[in-house]
Amino acid sequence: MAILANLFHAPKSHRNGSNIPFSGTGTVGSSEAIMLATLSMKWKWREHRKKLGLSYDKPNIVFGSNVQVCWHKACVYFDIEGREADVSEDCLILTKDRAQPLIDGHTIGVCCILGSTFNGEFENVKEIHDMVMELNQKNNWNVPIHVDAASGGFIAPFTQPNLIWDFRLPNVKSINVSGHKFGLVYAGVGWALWREPDDLPDELMFHVDYLGGDQASFTLNFSKGASQIIGQYYNLIRYGMEGYSALAFAGLQTASYLRGLYFFSSNF
Ligand SMILES: *Cc1c(COP(=O)(O)O)cnc(C)c1O
Repeated sequence: MAILANLFHAPKSHRNGSNIPFSGTGTVGSSEAIMLATLSMKWKWREHRKKLGLSYDKPNIVFGSNVQVCWHKACVYFDIEGREADVSEDCLILTKDRAQPLIDGHTIGVCCILGSTFNGEFENVKEIHDMVMELNQKNNWNVPIHVDAASGGFIAPFTQPNLIWDFRLPNVKSINVSGHKFGLVYAGVGWALWREPDDLPDELMFHVDYLGGDQASFTLNFSKGASQIIGQYYNLIRYGMEGYSALAFAGLQTASYLRGLYFFSSNF
């Protein structure tokens, strides 16, 4: 978690020395990570509304119609209205202008995708982030940004380190990434990270001592093999920045080569 929190530029002051606070969890994949992030956004929103004495029975969440199916699942499973911005043939992603009219006081969060499921394109997280910050200030809202970096989370930090999409943006409160996509681990591992421990509501955390010492647990399932976690740790240590960069650039080169073949074939 500490390696990924660093990679995504989580604020350092909270991760001093050996006293690393809980800022994330391993999951089965990005889907579970997104379920957990959605729950925490819903809880934070409700807390904020309660404090202001406002109603909290009609939560909604804003994303583009290019989201992966897990976002629709999260809406149905957790009884949240999904407000989906249409994308068009000439622009297949969420933009700030498409998102803005869908946001109101009942919005628990806005999801930006780093690596759209349709075509791999990155949404402009910074632009959407700044628009949401402005709305929050104007209306006394607390709408956070979640970045679904299922695929891009293991590409952008290595190929575009100057692209500002992660915890460097103060209102990016949570990020998910799939270890089993460009994290290069076999299937069954994802990661959910929160900016600071405060961004994760206490009520969602359970503490168990079945296995000896106190263990904090925030997952949908419980028992799980350790092999993927070890595989991820091994790869991070073994490849490092240099190795992941080389592999990410090679992957992009292959994608671009294949794109050329498709583009100039008469099939598309
Ligand atoms: C793959 C993907 C998911 C789902 O991730 P899993 O790790 O397969 O659960 C969610 N969002 C995006 C953008 C994806 O590409």
